[in-house]
Amino acid sequence: MYSVIVVGGGPAGIAAAVAARRRGLSTLLVERYGFLGGMATAGLVTPFMSTLGAGGLYPELIGRLEKWEAMDGRNFDGELTKLVLDEWLTEEGVDLLFHALLTGVKVENGKISSITVAGKGEELELKASYFIDCTGDGDLAALAGVPMNMGRGEDRLCQPMTTCFQLGGVDDELMLSREKLSLLYNKAKAEGRLKNPRENVLWFYTIRPNEIHFNTTRVVGKNPVSIKELTEAELEARGQIAQMFRWLKEEVPAFKDAYILRIATQIGVRESRTIKGAYQLTEEDVLGGRKFLQSIGKCSYPIDIHSPKGEGTTIATLAPGDWYEIPYTTLYNPGFKNLLAAGRCISSTHEAQASLRIMPTCMVIGQAAGLAASLAQADGLSVEQVPVELLQTELKAAGADL
Ligand SMILES: Cc1cc2nc3c(=O)[nH]c(=O)nc-3n(C[C@H](O)[C@H](O)[C@H](O)COP(=O)(O)OP(=O)(O)OC[C@H]3O[C@@H](n4cnc5c(N)ncnc54)[C@H](O)[C@@H]3O)c2cc1C
Repeated sequence: MYSVIVVGGGPAGIAAAVAARRRGLSTLLVERYGFLGGMATAGLVTPFMSTLGAGGLYPELIGRLEKWEAMDGRNFDGELTKLVLDEWLTEEGVDLLFHALLTGVKVENGKISSITVAGKGEELELKASYFIDCTGDGDLAALAGVPMNMGRGEDRLCQPMTTCFQLGGVDDELMLSREKLSLLYNKAKAEGRLKNPRENVLWFYTIRPNEIHFNTTRVVGKNPVSIKELTEAELEARGQIAQMFRWLKEEVPAFKDAYILRIATQIGVRESRTIKGAYQLTEEDVLGGRKFLQSIGKCSYPIDIHSPKGEGTTIATLAPGDWYEIPYTTLYNPGFKNLLAAGRCISSTHEAQASLRIMPTCMVIGQAAGLAASLAQADGLSVEQVPVELLQTELKAAGADL
């Protein structure tokens, strides 16, 4: 029996587990892969987008990555990140259970009594006083029966999925700007040599010379929580990588000697299910820079929507220097007494989620969820009863930028 079980070891889950453990709670983090990091490692999403309000545990992670020489500007090394996270969570005393896929949840009178995880033909029933859903897709909440939203209001379509990949052996001297490479790409697309609904090539440097990171495949119209459609999406995205790799080698001199260095373990999911919480954060809240009495964190990243249907990426920014706040009420559904959500599956519309989904903000939300669980545990409260002023005080004491 644990005090807290966190399901999902991505940016939100790591922060939630560390925050809960630092308050002395016995904490288990359950993860389906054999390593931590979520999209930062399994998804090979290796730049942190910048935002105001990324305090608390996020700068601690950056400090640890820097010690390992795993950072360069906003870019970091996904492989070293796996080592850094093992070291960090183990040092904190968080119990880890890898290769454990959440498959079942028992709910009694609005309280989760246990979850079931499965792997290698084994099934384990795990009990805790509080549970935090950091699965990105809201698997825990959905299995518990929390009402969920999916994608856009009008048609439930989600942002497209993308398999990130990195090429080595690139000639940095000959590397083209995003604009110039995109011109060649669009010409090849128009001539039928490339098939990809994305309108341009999105690439980043890695932390090492002669390597380029691509966030440029695009799979639209697939359901990210259907394993059948995820299979189709994986194949489609890797097909785009194969085609793009050959095209780059043959037609773009910087890539003549390039080779595939890494392909993400799984296709990257920007958006899927979100919980229907006590409050749902909206586009107006984000763009209007709304502040909440119940704030547990802030964010200034724009609404960044890759078209769910095909070409196009729309970016809507906040007023310069402004930010919006994320209220605690987006982290739970009042019908579920011991369940919190953190990360990209909190209660938010398609548009609001397109801002708060960045990794630093997911860590901010995760830290708040871990601390909230510890306050609830101390007095045997439901998550809804957590005194938010105290939560804010404790978050500030833990370095959060509130
Ligand atoms: C292609 C792409 C590009 C992006 N670009 C950027 C960027 O440049 N910068 C940035 O800051 N953000 C970027 N993002 C957004 C960001 O990476 C994610 O929104 C963020 O990682 C979400 O964090 P999370 O902890 O909520 O979920 P995730 O990172 O998805 O982590 C969820 C974890 O839960 C585990 N899990 C899921 N289901 C189960 C289950 N049933 N049982 C057990 N474990 C489970 C997963 O394996 C994973 O480890 C990008 C996202 C994508 C997909």
